[in-house]
Amino acid sequence: MAATRRKADKKIKALIDFHCLNDQCEGVVKFNLADITGRDFQAVCPKCHRTYMLDAELKDKLRRMLILVEAIGDAEDILGSSNVSVNVAGGSVKIPYALLLTRLNTLITLDLGGRQVDFHLWIKPASADTFN
Ligand SMILES: [Zn+2]
Repeated sequence: MAATRRKADKKIKALIDFHCLNDQCEGVVKFNLADITGRDFQAVCPKCHRTYMLDAELKDKLRRMLILVEAIGDAEDILGSSNVSVNVAGGSVKIPYALLLTRLNTLITLDLGGRQVDFHLWIKPASADTFN
């Protein structure tokens, strides 16, 4: 019963954002990682409306990132009870694995039209209670 419910609303979300490459623009371009699989996908800056076409290589990298995120989503209940143990002076500290995924800023530096751009990855777990 519980397993069926978990499957039904198992939708981990991965959002990507990066700073607009127009030097005078302060816009942040955002998109859902799952959307890039569409053939004509392009990201648009909300401020200056510059459009970004992602080339095949970049799309492929992001597509594989999505697969990774979906695998994380599939293991959400396992990760929810996993900890990373960090040795510190005088003992060790346990950090819930979920915190690493949801609270740390993940930056992926990828080539976008000849420039190295930091893509900020946000992972939103399917169930709010798992990662809290
Ligand atoms: Zn812009």
